[in-house]
Parts: sequence; C-alpha cells; structure tokens
Amino acid sequence: MAAMLRRLVSVLAALALWVAPSTTARAEGALMVTGVRAGIHTAMTRVVIDLSARMDYRVQTLTDPHRVVIDLPELEWSAPDRLAKPVGRVTGYRWARVKPGAGRLTIGTSGPVEVRQSFLMPPSEGLSWRLVVDLADSGRDDRPKTVPVAVAAPPKPPPQAEKPRPIKPSSRPVVVIDPGHGGVDPGAIGIEGTFEKHLTLQVARAAKQELEKSGRYTVLLTRERDIFIPLRDRVAFARDREADLFISLHADAVPRADIRGLSVYTLSQNASDAEAQALAEKENKADLIGGVDFSGNSPEVTTILIELAQRETMNLSAGFAQDVLDEMAHAIKLLNNSHRFAGFAVLKAPDVPSILVEMGYLSNVQEEQMLRKPEHRAKLASSLARAIERYFAGQQKAKRP
Ligand SMILES: [Zn+2]
Repeated sequence: MAAMLRRLVSVLAALALWVAPSTTARAEGALMVTGVRAGIHTAMTRVVIDLSARMDYRVQTLTDPHRVVIDLPELEWSAPDRLAKPVGRVTGYRWARVKPGAGRLTIGTSGPVEVRQSFLMPPSEGLSWRLVVDLADSGRDDRPKTVPVAVAAPPKPPPQAEKPRPIKPSSRPVVVIDPGHGGVDPGAIGIEGTFEKHLTLQVARAAKQELEKSGRYTVLLTRERDIFIPLRDRVAFARDREADLFISLHADAVPRADIRGLSVYTLSQNASDAEAQALAEKENKADLIGGVDFSGNSPEVTTILIELAQRETMNLSAGFAQDVLDEMAHAIKLLNNSHRFAGFAVLKAPDVPSILVEMGYLSNVQEEQMLRKPEHRAKLASSLARAIERYFAGQQKAKRP
C-alpha cells in the first residue's frame, strides 16, 4: 500500500513538473498580438497594435510595393488575419514568422509613407501594452523615377522613408527553398496515403543540408515545420531576404495512374499546355484552403518597371530550370516535356529567379513508394544542390569580362 502511494505521489509530482512550466510560461511570458487597428489621427494614419506584453520592435519602410514592416519577436498571432477595410493610407496587413524567434508584420500602404513616430504605450484603462505607429504621406511619389522632375528641395529628408532593404547578413548567395503546402493544407495525397506536405519538407531539409556542406550559400526554408503559409507570404519571404534563387517543391497527383516523372515549372502568363494550366490552378488554391484569398490581388506586378524586372528574372529562371533538369536526368526519371510554363502564384517575385519542381506523381504507386524512400529523396536533394552550384558558377562567369 505504502509503495503504491509512493508511486502515486511520484507520478503526481512528475505530472506537476510537466504541466507547470507551460502554464507559467503562458501566464507570464506568452507574447501575443491580440489586435491591430488603424484610424485617421490628425492627418496621419495611426496604426495601433495590441500586445500582451512589452516587447522589442523595429519599424522601417520599404518600397515596391510601398509597405511598412514591423519586426517583432516570434509570437502568438491572435488578432484577425486581415484588416476589415482600408483605412487612410493603410490597405491591409499580414503577419509572418520569418525565422525561429522572429516575426514580421507587414502593413501595405497605398503610397509612399514615412513613419512620423512609433512608441510603446504601457497598459492603461483596461488596455494592455500597445505599439503605436503614425504614418504620414512622405510627400514624394517615387514612381516617376525615370522622369527627372524639378522639385523644390524638401524641408529635410524624411527620417524613415526610402530606407534601403535590409542588408544581407553576408555576401553569400541566399537560396530560399519552399516546401509546398503544410498545416491545414496537405497538398496532394498519394494512393498509399502519403501527404505531399511531408515529402516537400523532407526534401527541402535534405537539400538545405546538402547545400550547406560547401559553406558557400545561405539556405533558408519558408517553413521548417508543418504549418500553413499563404503563397504570397512565401514569395514575400524570399523577397524580404533578397533571395538569389527561390525553389518551390511539390509532388502532384492526377487521375491517370500511369503518369510519372519529375518536371520543372517556370512562370509564364500563358501556360504551355492545358495540363500545366490546371496544375497551376490547383497549386494556387492552397491559399483558399488556408482561408486566405489573395487571388487576383497582386499589386506587386502592376507597374511596368516590375514587369521588366520580371522578364529578366524569367530568363534566369528558365536557365536555372534547365540546370535542374540536366542534373536530375542523371539520377531519376523525368516527365516527357519536363520544362513547362504556367502562372503559379508562388513564382511571381519580380526580382527573384524562381522555379517550381514537381518531384513526381503520388498518383503513381511506384513513384509514391520511391518518394517515401530517404535514398530517393537524397538523390533529389543532391541533384538540386548540384544544379544550384552550376547556376551560380554560370552567374559568376557571366559577370566576368
Ligand atoms: Zn503542390
């Protein structure tokens, strides 16, 4: 009896230990954003972010498209996902975890703005900590950049506006690998029940490991866990880090069980065939599954400058797609017309050469079984790494006179 009691006590103690840290962490330290509001305040647009606690932040403005980014620690987002309607200069916002420990709130604005002031307000009148950011028109439209305009000198340069993009941590090329789907969106599901979202993450991790061996690249994944990320945030992730290359990994499933092989897609307004078009539509639906509808909403790709940038990017993307296919051909089976074109939302960064790799068909039993094998995924990863080496070697050569 005493022995049993002792055991019971020790079990209870263990349980208490197990439960205690998480509950206290939540009560004391859980960082949360509980609300985002915007309003007009003496000719400025004031954004108020409700915080669960005092936290560090950094505000800066970026252009193309015009936006204000607020870097915060990684936290629990319990505010609505979007602004109900545009207010003043603010058109909307989105939250994204950018890396372990760090998150970023991006606020879209309808034109160039400057941050007049930003400050933390301590709790008062039943409200918690708040971060207040006041935005004013920067009195300068940077669109007619190509046309020299005589303008009276501004009183003084706005302190926050027109800041350069964040500087890369090193001069090493930045490669962003995007494991398709995740969280509530499983992607394609194989005959034997394999989830596309798991395969894409496994290959992405293997490729990152392979590439990091040389020490020549900074390799970042758009997600490191099984979480849902809207397509636009994946593109924004690559752009914000000034990626030199963006690779989105997928595995398809189609009604015909005999179709198999790898294929690589690059962006085009016109799909190369109906099947490519259907695939792009299917992949683009990921945002609908996650409850975020960004379709038909791409202010980034509206100006002519961006279109021009995109054309050059498309050429680089096509070259890289060929590198990938050449390397893959040594190791695995390719689809017949293996380089195809379609309008994938995830390939729409105007300044980052981007490809989408459909690694195979989960609707084909043999291919599904192969993709489940770590050895096969290692082959995909090392072929991809070799193609990336080749792409950058080519870039170096092109730069030399
Ligand atoms: Zn997919």
